[in-house]
Amino acid sequence: MDATLGSVVHVAVPRPLRTTFEYSLPSDLPAPLPGTRVRVPLGKSHVIGIVTALSDHPTRSMKPIEDILDAAPILTADLLKLASWLADYYHHPIGSVYAALIPTLARRGNPTEFEPTLIWIAVGKSTPTSLDRAPRQRRLWESLSKTGPVTTNEARKFGATLPLLRKLEEKGSIISQVERADYRISPSDIKPTSEQTAAIRAITANLDQFGVHTLYGVTGSGKTEVYLRVIENALKQAKQAVVLVPEIALTPQTTARFVERFGAAGVIHSAESDRERFRTWARVASGEHQILIGTRSAIFSNFRDLGVIVVDEEHDPSFKQTEGLRYSARDVAVIRAQMLGIPCVLGSATPSLETIANVDRKRYSMARISERPGSRKMPTFRVVDIRGERLNGGLSQPLLTVIRRHLNNNAQVLVFINRRGYAPTLCCSRCGWRAECDACDVRLTLHQSPKLLQCHHCLRRYPAPTACPECASEEIVALGAGTQRVEQTLKTEFPDVPTLRVDRDTTRSQTQLQNLFSTLTNPSRRILVGTQMLAKGHHLPNVTLVAVVNADNGFLSPDFRGPERTAQLITQVAGRAGRAERPGEVWIQSYDPANPNLVALTEYGYDGFTKTEMQHRRIAQLPPFTVMAMLRADASNPNESETFLLQLLAIVATFDVEALGPVTAPLARKSGRFRHQALLVSRRRSEIQRALEAVENKVPNQNSVRWSIDVDPIDTF
Ligand code: ADP
Ligand code: ZN
Ligand code: ZN
Repeated sequence: MDATLGSVVHVAVPRPLRTTFEYSLPSDLPAPLPGTRVRVPLGKSHVIGIVTALSDHPTRSMKPIEDILDAAPILTADLLKLASWLADYYHHPIGSVYAALIPTLARRGNPTEFEPTLIWIAVGKSTPTSLDRAPRQRRLWESLSKTGPVTTNEARKFGATLPLLRKLEEKGSIISQVERADYRISPSDIKPTSEQTAAIRAITANLDQFGVHTLYGVTGSGKTEVYLRVIENALKQAKQAVVLVPEIALTPQTTARFVERFGAAGVIHSAESDRERFRTWARVASGEHQILIGTRSAIFSNFRDLGVIVVDEEHDPSFKQTEGLRYSARDVAVIRAQMLGIPCVLGSATPSLETIANVDRKRYSMARISERPGSRKMPTFRVVDIRGERLNGGLSQPLLTVIRRHLNNNAQVLVFINRRGYAPTLCCSRCGWRAECDACDVRLTLHQSPKLLQCHHCLRRYPAPTACPECASEEIVALGAGTQRVEQTLKTEFPDVPTLRVDRDTTRSQTQLQNLFSTLTNPSRRILVGTQMLAKGHHLPNVTLVAVVNADNGFLSPDFRGPERTAQLITQVAGRAGRAERPGEVWIQSYDPANPNLVALTEYGYDGFTKTEMQHRRIAQLPPFTVMAMLRADASNPNESETFLLQLLAIVATFDVEALGPVTAPLARKSGRFRHQALLVSRRRSEIQRALEAVENKVPNQNSVRWSIDVDPIDTF
């Protein structure tokens, strides 16, 4: 009979299901190893799943697997282990975990072997005479000779086709080569400072052992140089390295530093096509790519022999995925390093309170890089009390005066305001009507050029009324200020100074952003107005003033992480200004100048802020002193989502977990669905985990409610 060894195949199928499925192994197929793709019947359809385990003794009649897609597993054993950790820790269906782990094309069953990419190179110095009578071929040769080696795809830009390239190759006018990532270690003339040396030693001394090393240094202090040296060590031992960066920081410049030092690097980001992503994934799996730089999902890559993980800007909220598998790439990096027994480096100019707490508890080590190479001074802070001030498009008179002073010194000014659009509220001063979204319970933001109202949650657009829809009064006023309004004010106040705006409306791509920043290397007077997009990137030595239009929204935010996020943003924006002979100044407008967070930050810097805030978190019993999980539900009927959450909380009630809610979500209605949430808090992670397990097992049957579990949520409000 079929009760032979390994005759039961456990398969994770690409469905939001919390269990794997058992299939039998037909006698004409070899036993597939865990990590192999198989085709299996599921209900009335056929799907591609991943083998997670083999066992004996079939317990009931099972359907057979239909096909095995891979000769060898496409997932390494450590990724299989990580997948079950992810399913347990984040309480996410195992089938969906695998779907998140594997590139789209692998999920669809594409072969993982690739046709090699060919690059084409022109031979000789002058146009070969053999091409005299073939004008198309001659033009192609001339283009290739001008551009240097290009891939077939790139060559299409100047009219090449594969047959045409082959013809030139036959004539010996061009040659083709298989493109390969060409790794080497280039010598560098940078001599590490003593702080850098200490950090590099601490990490590389234990390259074959798990450890989390926090690298705390201001922007420009030389953290990347430390990463480069650590990676150099890994490469020398023929090991791979991965560098995780926030979405916004993955620029050609970032990659260029690694390529310059090591000859090549694989890159994964969200803008890549499925095909490119799959190819990079396969090249990492084959070991051709020794270094991978990428945004959060790069942590799931199929490394052949990973030696070190680097997370740059570890505090950045973009490392947390906020839908589907709601993982923190930083936390997964630490777990993966632990599973592999390798070091994990967490770098930041403004470490998260979670990381600082882990250092305090001696779980992570910390190396500080306090000086900048060449000892550039840190900027000084000033708070502008704007109580009773008349604001001009969001800017107070003292702030405008200091901006003028810096511009008169031929310097550049950064104006930071974390809100895009013209004004956050449009209302009628007669009857109090406010412009709100039809589908969400939020106010619409007024935008100018084109003039319209936009919902920043569902992106619906509406025409801006010229009269009040309620009382027909024409006294409609725009309250508050966004980037567009501040820009307009600055253009009126300083008509001779070029003013540039940086937000999601003006700057869509990284390349655009970098081009914009590179115009600032020219030391002429300029004003840059923008959102948090200004916080990341290279040092701007000609900027001597950073003006923060409003710090109160962040410091007084109802989300407990608001102050932390605000202090990080201000510190990062501030860190971009100034140079040795002209240190920067940072001026912050506030209606609440005595706010302890603001005072701590401006008087004692980020360290001062974290001390104050850590104390507050301890007293208020907030993370990192407690563990949280958020239950969210939405339905087209508000009673349904609330009742559903009440049922979940009844399940949780037997555990040592505090439940807050259910309450309507801060955005009570989004895209027409009513949203509720409930927060679970406990001092013990194990207790939260057990409670969530119970929820998973006993979740009531429902069709009309969508719900999710978010472990370690970053948005609690
Ligand atoms: P961070 O990653 O902390 O922002 P970087 O590593 O990018 O800092 O360093 C900032 C600049 O200082 C870079 O141009 C880098 O080449 C240079 N640099 C780093 N370390 C040194 C050093 N020890 N000596 C001289 N220059 C250095
Ligand atoms: Zn009105
Ligand atoms: Zn909306």
